[in-house]
Amino acid sequence: MKVALLGTGIMGAGMARNLVRAGHDLRVWNRTREKAEAIEGATVAESPGEAARGSEVLVTMLADGPAVSEAVDLDGFHGVWAQMSTVGVEWTRRLAGLAEQHGIAFVDAPVLGSRQPAEDGELVVLAAGPHEAVQPVFDAVGSKTIWLDEAGEATRLKLIFNAWVLLLVPALGQVIVLAEKLGIEPTRFLDAIAGTGTDSAYAQSRGRSMAAGDFAPNFPLELARKDLALALEATDAELPIATAALAAYDRALASGHGRDDMTAVVTAI
Ligand code: NAP
Repeated sequence: MKVALLGTGIMGAGMARNLVRAGHDLRVWNRTREKAEAIEGATVAESPGEAARGSEVLVTMLADGPAVSEAVDLDGFHGVWAQMSTVGVEWTRRLAGLAEQHGIAFVDAPVLGSRQPAEDGELVVLAAGPHEAVQPVFDAVGSKTIWLDEAGEATRLKLIFNAWVLLLVPALGQVIVLAEKLGIEPTRFLDAIAGTGTDSAYAQSRGRSMAAGDFAPNFPLELARKDLALALEATDAELPIATAALAAYDRALASGHGRDDMTAVVTAI
């Protein structure tokens, strides 16, 4: 298929490589052009509009709603738009409205999984919208697609998933700080839970990174912070643990960890 992809950051780069590997005819655009040029086998477009025009599917994988809204250019595009960035409820509504104004089909399609699953084509795609045209694209970047009924539902499920992960990480960070304060190597705690009912693969990988002070970005902290804020904005419910976690991400952001991995939140607790 002729596919256009806007955004070859951490996630988009892996997705782009898997689209090429699956045999799709891929055009990429990225604000910082060098990152688009690094995708072998793809054609680099001069502008988002040039990438989109003539494509059957347009994938957006940019930082947030404002970035998607600024970049996307639907003039002359007649395919299906798969909006895969995490933009939250309000921006999904606005972007679906933009698609409607242009008379094109919109698929709300955020993903679960970070750098490694993106590189391995093992993302889980949460999708709501017309199926047929985009399934080959989702099959190239993901191991499975979970279809929901209406645009917005996939985004809501994504926010719930992210709240789980984004609360787990500071909770784990606090346990690691506690272990250090009690004079126990944090890795001994991780070894102790390994393979038990309280273990989690995520705790093992992220906990060991935190214990080692290794904050090489899989999910940039500034984007994690954005996603927790989007979950809080999506409801009137009081979520005091999420509010406390958001404050910790804010402190880590203020001390310069925005482009580090979200595990750098441990520096703020
Ligand atoms: P990233 O590496 O920071 O990439 C962000 C992308 O957005 C880059 O291509 C960047 O361009 C572009 N961008 C930012 N602001 C822009 C603007 N104003 N105009 C045009 N382009 C702009 O982040 P990522 O991890 O790939 O995340 C991309 C999306 O996937 C986000 O919505 C994120 O929440 C979501 N997501 C991330 C993960 C993860 O674990 N990393 C997992 C699931 C979903 P430049 O290269 O020029 O900066």
